Amino acid sequence: MKAWTLRAPGPVDGHPLELTELPVPVSGADEVLVRVSACGICRTDLHVVEGELEVRRPRVIPGHQIVGRVAALGQEVKGLDLDQRVGIAWLHRTCGVCPFCTSGRENLCEAPQFTGWTVNGGFAEMVVAPAKFVYSLPHGFDDIQAAPLLCAGIIGYRALRLTRLDERQAGWTGARLGIYGFGAAGHVCIQLARARGADVYVATRDRERHQALALELGATWVGDAFATPPVKLDAAIIFAPAGELVPVALRALDKGGTLVLGGIHMSDIPSFPYSLIYGERSVSSVANNTRDDGREFLAEAARIPVHTHVHTFPFTAANEALIALKHDAIRGAAVLLIENLER
Ligand SMILES: [Zn+2]
Ligand SMILES: [Zn+2]
Repeated sequence: MKAWTLRAPGPVDGHPLELTELPVPVSGADEVLVRVSACGICRTDLHVVEGELEVRRPRVIPGHQIVGRVAALGQEVKGLDLDQRVGIAWLHRTCGVCPFCTSGRENLCEAPQFTGWTVNGGFAEMVVAPAKFVYSLPHGFDDIQAAPLLCAGIIGYRALRLTRLDERQAGWTGARLGIYGFGAAGHVCIQLARARGADVYVATRDRERHQALALELGATWVGDAFATPPVKLDAAIIFAPAGELVPVALRALDKGGTLVLGGIHMSDIPSFPYSLIYGERSVSSVANNTRDDGREFLAEAARIPVHTHVHTFPFTAANEALIALKHDAIRGAAVLLIENLER
């Protein structure tokens, strides 16, 4: 099979991914082999490729928003059929026995495996994954539309949950939510928040693409990355990997508000006066997701329905796609097209 492997981490402008011919992987007893049709490209892929995340598997194949069809089933697999369309996300496998796995918090597992980082991912024609960690995908989304749901969407969903806006007396209705950074996750997140009844304030540095898309998707206000929204926010989410936004967002947050940090990697957070967090403001990161998050999100996305804005790249353009992502040249989400697309 053809696959993009990471020669060695380095700046994407140096084309660190190499198109390689590899043997088709063999699925284990509890795994499925999937023929990939499309794979979303996430900022985390950029962090893997550029080395912000340490190398966990040399010459790894990145990509963890995989849509494809089951091509082979391990002998212990139940509940999946050959040729069935499935999605594969970041959480490849958990240990199932640690205190986190046994208390409904498998996203914090002590011995997790991650797609496209510790095991091979979907920038390839074929991939294997444990059957219990693949998702069936709602019919309303074609392969390309579905791909960005699998990380950008799920992480956006979990970030919304961690805002604790559910606990407001008025619920989501009229809640003032800030979103800092408006890439793939932001553009799905705003659709969920709007559908739940929140007003969304978007701060992002790209006027032409990101701010315009935010307005199109119903933002109440858009501004530059460091701009101050016109009202105090009940909650805010930072999707941009920029630690300097933390004091900026805290300054915009009302008393009792929560600031959620949506990325797996962020530059250092500068120190800030205690007054910015006083008033029972809190800060939380998002780490991965549980399978329940994934299933609940996919159902909600189908119900609304969420519409993903995608920028597609041919399979041969994996490096170029990452370069475009790094330089904010994507409107919505980037998706790499592999083959066998159902449109
Ligand atoms: Zn575990
Ligand atoms: Zn991701």
